[in-house]
Amino acid sequence: MTDAITEPRSVLITGGNRGIGRSIAEEFLRCGHKVAVTSRSGVGGPEGALTVAADVTDGDSLDAAIRTVEQAHGPIEVLVANAGITDDQLLLRMSDDSFEKVLDTNLTGAFRTVKRVIKSMMRAKKGRIVLISSVVGLYGSPGQVNYAASKSGLIGIARALTRELGSRGITANVVAPGYIDTEMTQALPEELQDTYRKAIPAGRFADPVEVAKAVTFLASDDAAYISGAVIPVDGGLGMGH
Ligand code: NDP
Repeated sequence: MTDAITEPRSVLITGGNRGIGRSIAEEFLRCGHKVAVTSRSGVGGPEGALTVAADVTDGDSLDAAIRTVEQAHGPIEVLVANAGITDDQLLLRMSDDSFEKVLDTNLTGAFRTVKRVIKSMMRAKKGRIVLISSVVGLYGSPGQVNYAASKSGLIGIARALTRELGSRGITANVVAPGYIDTEMTQALPEELQDTYRKAIPAGRFADPVEVAKAVTFLASDDAAYISGAVIPVDGGLGMGH
């Protein structure tokens, strides 16, 4: 069991009611932190976490959620921007609306959330930002022009933030999961899942907790000198990019 974080911190995870976000929340809880998660409905987070309603495409709902979290747990010290969606379609069939919707949730949603927690991190002269991207952001994937664009954009955010705020005790990193066993991948046709499994050197999809461990490490004191990094958790799928 590793936990290099010495004091309980106020942690916010967007999209923490299921899948990878929930697993990340459970891992922070296991380490003794004060954990808040968002979901659009405001229900469904893990036991021990504060679950608040927030839609990352709606700035007002994020403002209200962050106020609630700060009242309960204090200023947010660790942000995990995890909320994300897919809307796959080959480019010729992809509508402008589909492209914009995916970008608005996955990329602009992360921007909106980071912007709303960064002031208190700057005041505290410390903070941890972890953006959940995807192997697809750098590797590409047919039918995911919208999703790949949103996920590679997160790397730009982390690296620009690192240059802006690196001297203030704030780190910003990206975790790039490969195929993880969640509702998002269970929705893929069985045949496609098998094709992906064959392409992954590890030969399997990951358990969400394998992503969560990388996130808690990046949030720890031990990771103070890691910033602007892209950490793959993909069984070797994206190796070399
Ligand atoms: P799930 O579909 O299981 O969960 C997605 C989460 O995002 C839910 O908690 C959902 O909450 C939340 N969410 C979606 N839209 C919004 C929104 N507009 N505002 C607030 N919350 C929202 O996905 P995963 O757990 O599989 O994925 C989590 C992250 O990991 C995503 O960013 C995804 O792109 C990324 N990822 C996943 C991989 C995988 O193989 N599963 C691989 C690589 C990256 P609710 O709908 O209840 O509001």
